[in-house]
Order: sequence, then C-alpha cells, then structure tokens
Amino acid sequence: MKALMKKEKGVDGVALERVEPPVVKTNEIKVKIHAAGICGTDIHIIHDQYPSNFPVIMGHEYSGTVVEVGEEVDNFKVGDRVVSATAVVTCGGCSYCNQGLLMLCDQRKSIGSGVHGAFAEYMVVPANLAYNIPSSVTLDEAALTEPLACVVRCMMERGRVDAGDFVLVSGPGTMGMLSLLVAKANGGNVVVIGTSQDSERLNLALELGATAVVNVEEEDAEQRLMELTNKKGFDIAVECAGVSVSANNCIKLLRKQGMLIQMGLFGKKIELDSDLLLMKEIDYTNGYASEPTSWERALRLLEHKHVDVSSLISNKIPIEKWQTAIRLAEQKIGYKTLLLPNI
Ligand SMILES: [Zn+2]
Ligand SMILES: [Zn+2]
Repeated sequence: MKALMKKEKGVDGVALERVEPPVVKTNEIKVKIHAAGICGTDIHIIHDQYPSNFPVIMGHEYSGTVVEVGEEVDNFKVGDRVVSATAVVTCGGCSYCNQGLLMLCDQRKSIGSGVHGAFAEYMVVPANLAYNIPSSVTLDEAALTEPLACVVRCMMERGRVDAGDFVLVSGPGTMGMLSLLVAKANGGNVVVIGTSQDSERLNLALELGATAVVNVEEEDAEQRLMELTNKKGFDIAVECAGVSVSANNCIKLLRKQGMLIQMGLFGKKIELDSDLLLMKEIDYTNGYASEPTSWERALRLLEHKHVDVSSLISNKIPIEKWQTAIRLAEQKIGYKTLLLPNI
C-alpha cells in the first residue's frame, strides 16, 4: 500500500513509500482511510521540531471505514465508519492511565509519530479507542474530529468558557476557527484577531459567528478591542497563531484574573511577558492533544450540529500529490488540507 513516511531526520527524510498493509491483532480493527488531515504537528515532525519514532507512517487526523476486525472485537463490524483517539500505546497501569489521561503516560506512543498513522491506505487501531461516526456527520467532516477534540480538551476540559464570556481568538487558522466554534457553542462572545494577510479568514470568522474581527496591524486595534469588552479586557484569550507576539497580545488584552489558553505548539522556545502574567493573576492553561473524554464530546458537538466544520475543509488532495498538500498547509493556504490515500 501507499504510505507517506517520515523515514529519517531532515526535511528530505519524508517520502511516499510502498509498504505491506498492516495485519490486524485480536483487539484491533483495520481501517481503510477515507481522508487524513495535515496538522501543524505534522509540519513540526517534518522539520524535526516534534519527536517521531522514524521510520513511521505520519498522520493522526483521519476518518475511515472498517475493513477487518480482530477476533476479540465485538463492538465494530466491517463497513462501520470510524475515527479514533491518537494515544494508541500506553502502559495501562500508571496513575495517568488509571485516570484516563492517556497522553500523559510515560509509555505513550501516538499514531503518526510513535506508531504508524493514517497517511496510508490502511491503518490498524485498538478497537477500544475507536468511535462510530454519527450518521449526521460526513466522512470528510469526521476527519476534523481530532483537531476538534484538541480544542475541546483546551477550552472545555482544561479551560472553561462560560456563557457571556468575552473570548479572544488570536490567529484565524483551522485551530482558531474551531476555537471560535467551540466558544460560540458554549455561549461566548468571540472576537477573532489576525493580520492584514488574514482578511479573507477574518471574513469567514464573521460568517461563522464571531461578534467582531480586528486586524491587529491597524492603528487603533488595541483601543477597539478594549472597547469591544466595555474596556474590561477579555475573560479568555486563545493563542492559536503559534508566535510569541500573538501570545503577548493575548496577555495584554486579557482582564485581570482572565485565562490564557495555549492551543498549539510554538515549535520553539518563545518569550512571554511572565511578570505581566503574574501582576494580572492570569491563569495559563493548555492541552496536550486530546483524551477519550474530549473525543466523546467532540463527536456529540458534531452530531448535533453545535459545531459545523464543513466550511473549514478547503483542500482535498490525492496522496501522490503530498508535496503540494504539505506546501498548502505550510503556507497556510485555505484551512484544513485533507490527504486522500485511496483514490
Ligand atoms: Zn492534529
Ligand atoms: Zn500509563
């Protein structure tokens, strides 16, 4: 089968290979991949800014159809449409595993970095970490369950948006848009900020329900943003741009005792105004990918249309053209780029 692999260190260490399809174990299901999204983490893996256990098939945001089930699997059958959580290898016995916090297990390996992932025609995953896709959700939409689960983890399990909160989303990419949708679903008044390059994205943010959008490069941006919160500052700021200037803007625009949420990786050490964090008594939280609880909630948000991700799917590319797909994701052209391994 075709598989996009991180084979070795360096940006040239990624290649489309022919490999043997995986063999299903007793407690696993074999999934024919429909679509697999390219994530910021994949870009970090390519550039060796995030650890990977190469040679490894990349990809962790996927949807697909069950084509084979292991002997002991009784909760899935051939033909089921599925997604799965990503932390598929854990020790099963440490205090984090016992609390269902799989990402925090010292032995954890996730699909697409620690073990073979979804940028391939087929993949196997443990059946106990897979979920049926609700009938109201398309396979394309379901491929965004993973990033949505990460946003749920940050904003609803680690952080918390209350109805009426002023929520600032900095960086209108895919994670920013998902943060907007999740904050809206929780009753937040959401303001999305970006730069001059983001004008199209900021327009989409308005269409998706943002109360206001602001280009931070405009002269009176800070004053306008403060006015939008009746000069009090934001209750919550979600950093989705992955650059330090955005993180520091968030700290500046938060009210005292507000909450800063780091949505994604920066890919390097950054400078934060930590004294201002202290003097404003700001809570700083984040989330390391997602946990099974986040998946259940993300699927419910999709099923009942509290969150509609359809407008965020902008590029669908056959896996043979993976270089084009990576370039689109790297240059942030459109929103989510999906790789299609089976067409
Ligand atoms: Zn991801
Ligand atoms: Zn463990």
